[in-house]
Amino acid sequence: MKAEIITIGDELLIGQTIDTNSAWIASELSKLGIDTYQITSISDKRDHILKTLSEVTGRSDIVLITGGLGPTSDDITKQVLCEYFETRLVENKEVLANIEDILKRRNFTMNENNRKQAEVPENCMILNNNVGTAPGMWFEKMGTIFISMPGVPPEMKYIMSSHVLPELKKRFTSQIIIHKNIMTYGVPEAKLSEMLSGFEAGLPESIKIAYLPSYGIIKLRLSGRGINREAIEEVLEEQVAQLHNIIPDLIYGEEEESLEMKIGSLLRERNATLCTAESCTGGKVSQMITSVAGSSDYYKGSLVAYNNDIKTGILNVPENYLVQFGAVSRETVTAMAEKARELFSTDFALATSGIAGPGGGSEDKPVGTIWIAAASAVKTTAERYIFGKDRNFNIMRFSNAALDLLRRQIIS
Ligand code: AMP
Ligand code: MG
Repeated sequence: MKAEIITIGDELLIGQTIDTNSAWIASELSKLGIDTYQITSISDKRDHILKTLSEVTGRSDIVLITGGLGPTSDDITKQVLCEYFETRLVENKEVLANIEDILKRRNFTMNENNRKQAEVPENCMILNNNVGTAPGMWFEKMGTIFISMPGVPPEMKYIMSSHVLPELKKRFTSQIIIHKNIMTYGVPEAKLSEMLSGFEAGLPESIKIAYLPSYGIIKLRLSGRGINREAIEEVLEEQVAQLHNIIPDLIYGEEEESLEMKIGSLLRERNATLCTAESCTGGKVSQMITSVAGSSDYYKGSLVAYNNDIKTGILNVPENYLVQFGAVSRETVTAMAEKARELFSTDFALATSGIAGPGGGSEDKPVGTIWIAAASAVKTTAERYIFGKDRNFNIMRFSNAALDLLRRQIIS
C-alpha cells in the first residue's frame, strides 16, 4: 500500500507558507500503517498540475492533494482535475446549502465566487467540508485513488478525519501500527546507537526503531506492526522494559514529555519549589519552565544576571571570582545558584553562565562553553559542557543541559 501527497500552491514554492499539510497527512497515514512514497509540492499552474497527476497515476494507490480550491482566480485545482478526469462541473445542491450555511454563520452574503464553489466535478464523490466552503473530492482512475482537499489546514484536517481516514482504514488496513516513544537525554545519537546495537540486533521483525534528536534530547521511537493490537502492545512493552535495563540513566520520560514537563512533575511529587539565575540563556530556561501549565505551583521566578554587575551586586558573586576564575566558571555559577536559592527561598535553584557566541570565546573557554549549577539544601552540583558555534543552537543546548542537570539533582 503506497500513498503520495501533492501540495499545490505558489506560496509553498516561494517559502511563504511551510507545507505543514504533508507532515500531518503523512503522520496520520503512518498510524494506519500506510507508507508515504513521495511528497511533492507544485505551483498553481495547469501544466504543472496535469504533469504531476499523470506521473502519480498507477504509481501509487492513494494520492492526497491539498491546495488550490479557494474561491479566487489563482486557485485552479478543481478545473484541472475536471480536465484530467475528463468530466465537467455541475452545481451540487448539498454543497451549495453548506456554503450558504457557513456564510450565514459568518454573517456574509453569497457572491458569484462562493456560488462557483458549489460547482463540483460530475464524476467524483463529494467529501463534505463542515468548516469551510470548498468541499473535498474523491476520484478513482486506473487503480489510483485521488483525494483533493482545500489547503487551509483546519479544513484539510476536518475532511481527512471525518471522511478520508475512516474510509482508507475500512478499505486498506489489515495491519495496525503502534508507536511508543522513549525520551532520552545525555549522550549523542551516534553513542546512543552504539550502546543500543545489541538491543537493535535482538529486536523482533515486527518492531522498528528510529532515533529522533532535538537539541540533545533523543526520542527513541519504537514502531510495532501486526494485526493484533494487544499482541503488538505486549511486544512493545517488553522492548521498553529492556531499554530501561540498558540505559536507565538516560531515559527521563515517555511519549512527548519534555525536560521541563519532567522537572514539573518531579517538583510536584516532592512539593518542592524552584528558581533560576540565568546569564547566557537570558531567560530561556525560565520561558521553558513556564511553558508548562500550572508551573506557578513550583516555579518562583528568575533573575537574568546577564551583566557581571548584576552577578556581583544582586547575587553576591565575589568580585575576585570574576577576576580569578571568570564569569564562566564553576565558582561563579555555584555562587549564583546558591545565592538565588536563598534570595527566592526555594528548595532548588538552577544557574547558567556560558559563551553563546559567535564572539567572546578564548582558547580555554571556546564559544559553546557553559557552566551550569543546580543547588539544593543538601548540595550544589556544577558541570561544564561544550557545544557548538551557533548562538541559537547553543542557547537551546544550554537550556536543555541545564534542565537535565537539575533533573538529576532533584532525583539524586
Ligand atoms: P488554498 O486551498 O490553495 O486556497 O489554500 C489556502 C491557504 O491554506 C493558503 O493561503 C495557505 O495559507 C494554506 N495552505 C495551503 N497549502 C498548505 C500546506 N501545504 N501546508 C500548510 N498550509 C497550507
Ligand atoms: Mg492556493
